[in-house]
Amino acid sequence: MSSPPTLNVPKYLYDISGEGAFAYLARAKELARKGMDIVSFGIGQPDFPTPKHIREEAKRALDEGFTGYTETAGILELREAIAEYLNNKYGADVKPNEIVVTTGAKTAILIALAMYVQEGDEVIIPEPSYPAYAQIIKLFKGKPVYIPLKWEGGVKGFSLDIELIEKNITERTKAIVLNNPHNPTGAVFTPKQIDELMDLARRKNIIIIADEIYDNFVYDGEFKSVLSHSDWRNYVVYVNGFSKTFAMTGWRLGYVVVRNEVIDRAIDLAVNVYSCAVSFAQKAGVKALRGDWKPIKEMIDIFKKRRDLLYELLKQVPGFDVWKSPGTFYMFPNIEGVLKLTGLKNAKELADTLLEKYGVVVLPGTAFPDKAGEGFIRFSFATSFDDIRKGVDRIREAVEELSKR
Ligand code: PMP
Repeated sequence: MSSPPTLNVPKYLYDISGEGAFAYLARAKELARKGMDIVSFGIGQPDFPTPKHIREEAKRALDEGFTGYTETAGILELREAIAEYLNNKYGADVKPNEIVVTTGAKTAILIALAMYVQEGDEVIIPEPSYPAYAQIIKLFKGKPVYIPLKWEGGVKGFSLDIELIEKNITERTKAIVLNNPHNPTGAVFTPKQIDELMDLARRKNIIIIADEIYDNFVYDGEFKSVLSHSDWRNYVVYVNGFSKTFAMTGWRLGYVVVRNEVIDRAIDLAVNVYSCAVSFAQKAGVKALRGDWKPIKEMIDIFKKRRDLLYELLKQVPGFDVWKSPGTFYMFPNIEGVLKLTGLKNAKELADTLLEKYGVVVLPGTAFPDKAGEGFIRFSFATSFDDIRKGVDRIREAVEELSKR
């Protein structure tokens, strides 16, 4: 009898890391199971249920038996609704045949990167950054090139360092990842910076992988979509989705927009990976885009108030340099002062201590995913006013106690 095959996982999979937000979520759940009272500023998802009219639409679709496969690109009605949304909001001219509906924005990121990244290609990622980009680039044997965002302290906050990006462009640079509004810093890059980045793409013939999943979470300043540039087709692969705006993280619904000449490549990849997005979720997605936006606007207003509260409370904690993030539902304060006061080594040690001793989940900046986040921690304020107060109280107590050691 021959021996069974050895189940050696290929080496490249060991180069891919998981996601800090999910790792801390699992640890917090474990502590909660043991009876610890946890306040979480961890995972980035609206704490509201999906609005009722969207849930009702999914139920209707189920009751009508809309339960089979759909076209891989997504039902036409949904692609029309997506195009309508983008065109009304950004004065763009996206066509339904330039859209592929995906199983969440994450699969849209996978498709967007698969379209252009080959072995040895460099992809510039302004850093800190949402971790999935770098992992998927590595999967395609590309090289993530991390370029730190500019941090100018509490009033000016984070911005794109276009000059530094340009300096790091080589003949191998294929693409730049632009996540705007930005996870984890909460930055909304200025229209001028977006124009400059698009101009750089034109001059250097580089693709912009634009992830605008937080496009409705803008509290201050102006948000400019890359799609408002009339020549976006030449340079942009666009990612967005339903998870954040419509509180639909569990439905797994997103989309990628890419010029029609290459859409068949995206569809052929998609069909081999997931066949199509969930049929009744797609119907619900149409309702989300074309239905009542009042509950969404109300949710976003509440997020703005939470942001204001978190900012007011955090800036009173010794050692915190806090920037009032203009967008998303994240705040990314600098905590080097806390490290000095407490003697803790780094952001990870602070996050671990807050979780294990004080029952507060925050994510170390280094979870995003390289060095630029050192000295920062991420708060998601997609949590209640009471938890924001309770959580920051505990953090203040922690800093005071640890400072006395
Ligand atoms: N892009 C960014 C910047 C995100 O923060 C997230 C979710 N945390 C995603 C994409 C993935 O979204 P989805 O749940 O729709 O896959």
